[in-house]
Amino acid sequence: MRAPFELAGEKVTAGSHRFIQVPVAQLYTQTPVSIPVHVLHGRRSGPVLMVSAAIHGDELNGVEIIRRLLRHSALRNLRGTLLAVPVVNVFGFIHHSRYLPDRRDLNRCFPGSESGSLGARTARMFKTAVLDHATHGIDLHTGAIHRSNLPQVRANLDNPEVADLAQAFGVPVVMHSELREGSLRETADTAGVPVITYEAGEALRYDESCVRAGLRGVINVMRHLEMVRSRPRKPRQAQVARSSSWVRAENDGVFRSLVALGRYVREGECIGRISDPFGTTEQDVVAASDGILVGRNNLPLVHEGEALFHIARYEGGEDLARKVESFQNKLDNHEGAEDEPPIAP
Ligand SMILES: [Zn+2]
Repeated sequence: MRAPFELAGEKVTAGSHRFIQVPVAQLYTQTPVSIPVHVLHGRRSGPVLMVSAAIHGDELNGVEIIRRLLRHSALRNLRGTLLAVPVVNVFGFIHHSRYLPDRRDLNRCFPGSESGSLGARTARMFKTAVLDHATHGIDLHTGAIHRSNLPQVRANLDNPEVADLAQAFGVPVVMHSELREGSLRETADTAGVPVITYEAGEALRYDESCVRAGLRGVINVMRHLEMVRSRPRKPRQAQVARSSSWVRAENDGVFRSLVALGRYVREGECIGRISDPFGTTEQDVVAASDGILVGRNNLPLVHEGEALFHIARYEGGEDLARKVESFQNKLDNHEGAEDEPPIAP
C-alpha cells in the first residue's frame, strides 16, 4: 500500500480525497482564515501536481475550472497526487480584489518569510504547505479588471520541462514569459518545479469557453504526466510567441474596439477608435506590430496611456488565427464537460 500523503500535519491515505484547511492568519475580528486545499492521493505513485487559482483574489475562472476538475471522471483512477487550491488569496477573494488587505500583490511576495508582511507570511505558508510538496504546477489566472485575455499559456520556455507542460496543455497560444521577481512561478523555478500559467478571460467574470479550455488543458497535462489514462493522440506543437506589446491610448476619451480577441492584426491597421463622449473628435487606434490579439481592454472610458490591446508577435500569424478560431468553435460546440450545464454568455 502506498504511504499516506501529509499536508499541514494531516494525513491522506492512498486512494482517498481530503479537503484540508491550511491556516494562514485571522481577520481582525478573530475569524480564522485558511487556504482550503483538496488532496487527491492516488493508489499508484506518480507526480504531485499542484493546480492553483485566485492567487489574484478577483480572478475567478480558475475557481470554476478546479470545481469541474474535482468532479471529472478522469480522476477516478488517479496515478500520483493532485493538490487543488481553488482560492489561494482568500483575503482578496472575499473583497473582490486582486490584492491583499495591505495592497500587496501575493504573486510578488514569494518565497515569503515568517516574519515579513502579511503577503510574505501568506506566501511562505503556501510555499511550505503546498508548493514544496509539488513536482509540477499549473497556476490559473485571468486578465486584470476590465481586461480580457484570449486563453493562453505563459511559461518560461527556456526551461525544456516547462516548455513540455506548456505544449501539453493544448491551447493554440503559448507565450514565453520571463520569470517575475516574487512570483510563484519564479520560486517554483528556483526549486526546480516546472510551473505554467494559464491566462483566460477577465477578472470578476466567469467565461464558459475559458473555463472549458482550462479544464481540458489541466486534464491534458495530467495525461501528459500519465496521472490519468490517456488515449494515444498525435503530438501537437503550438507555435510560441517570444514577445508581445501593448497598444496604448494616445488620448483620453471613449474607446471602441474594432477587433475581437484571437484576430491577426497587421502593423498600421486601425483596430479601435477613441472619440470624445460628445461626438466632436475621433482618433484611430493603430496596431503597432503584426500579431495575434491576446488581450483587450473592455472598459470604454480610457485615459491617455491606458493599455488597450495586447498583441503577441508570431511568425505566420494568419495561420495561427485560423487555429484559434477552429479551437474556439470546437469548444463552443462541445457539450459541457461531463454532465456540466454550461454558463450562459
Ligand atoms: Zn493574475
